[in-house]
Amino acid sequence: MRITEIRERTVSLSAPMRNASISFGAMTASAVAVTTDVIRNGKPVIGLSFDSPGRYGHGGLLRERFIPRILEADPEDLLTLDGNNLDPHRVWNVLMRNEKAGGHGERCGAVGLLDCAVWDAVAKIEEKPLWRVLSERYCGLSDQIRVPVYASGGHYRDHDDLAHLHDSISRSRDLGFTKFKIKFGGLPLEDDLRRVETAISAVQSSSDLAIDCNGTWSGSQLEEMAARLSPYQLGWIEEPVHPLDYELSRAFASQYKGPIATGENIFSADDTLNLLRYGGLRPDRDILQMDVSLSYGLVEYLRIVELAEQHGWSRSNCIPHAGFLLAFNVVAGLELGRHETSMSGSFALYLPTTDGYVRPDEAPGVGYERSPIFRAIFSEL
Ligand SMILES: [Mg+2]
Repeated sequence: MRITEIRERTVSLSAPMRNASISFGAMTASAVAVTTDVIRNGKPVIGLSFDSPGRYGHGGLLRERFIPRILEADPEDLLTLDGNNLDPHRVWNVLMRNEKAGGHGERCGAVGLLDCAVWDAVAKIEEKPLWRVLSERYCGLSDQIRVPVYASGGHYRDHDDLAHLHDSISRSRDLGFTKFKIKFGGLPLEDDLRRVETAISAVQSSSDLAIDCNGTWSGSQLEEMAARLSPYQLGWIEEPVHPLDYELSRAFASQYKGPIATGENIFSADDTLNLLRYGGLRPDRDILQMDVSLSYGLVEYLRIVELAEQHGWSRSNCIPHAGFLLAFNVVAGLELGRHETSMSGSFALYLPTTDGYVRPDEAPGVGYERSPIFRAIFSEL
């Protein structure tokens, strides 16, 4: 077998919203399709992938560097020993040929897109959902088929912000969600606390609510933030400080007893190791949120989970950032803690949520073909 063609396209994710650090007015993402010569149901198997949100598309790197590297490789170098399927670990090694260590830049997102499209193809060739392939390979065929999920959103709006915040949480509750996350740190503290109280009034318990600070707090704010936020006993405080300032992270963890979540802007196993060594995080309560496709894909994410386990973390404290259907499959297959899905409903799972859980289905691969919004994106590609 061989890969016959790879296509990519940039898709607009533009939305009139912002967090404490960026606006989403010009946000883009890449969609990728890897076509093989394997035939299933009368058609060539095509592996699909889509960027996780927040880092823009990766078209330039894909076109100039990583797609040619795959297409110019000896096809044998990409396959399993029996030659019947792609081997994602061997594909990953080809993608990273002649790449220096460190300094990941945006290449980790480009490599991750191709890696994840390959995993989709691998599962389709095996005629299984990706979560089942991962469960068989890395969890010993456990049959966990209920995935805990949470609804993420609560971005700042220029008009009717508090009413919109309350409505969007209430709507998510009506859809079956029980855990929620909103943005924090983009307004003066008293206004942000009013948003937290508005959100708490729409959920069952304050521990059902997490807040996401998008890495904006300075050292001089930490003590006041810890004192003002501790009484709420929130589910977690996310990215309180700059994602690469491990000393500041350690300082906050020494002052705040509740759970801290971070890692969505840590894009490799190397950087995860530094965070675990120096960030002051506590494996018994804190949460690691490395993003699967933005962190060099699933091959690297497996290394990240292994590293976390070596440092005393359980998989239930690994809750990947966003990632749409791909991350959902990874959470289900590796039995991770929870899946993040959007409160706004755009790009939401096509599967229903009941009492905070989603049951994965048997769609082969990641399941993009069953989602109306992804079907539209990939049919254009
Ligand atoms: Mg976040």
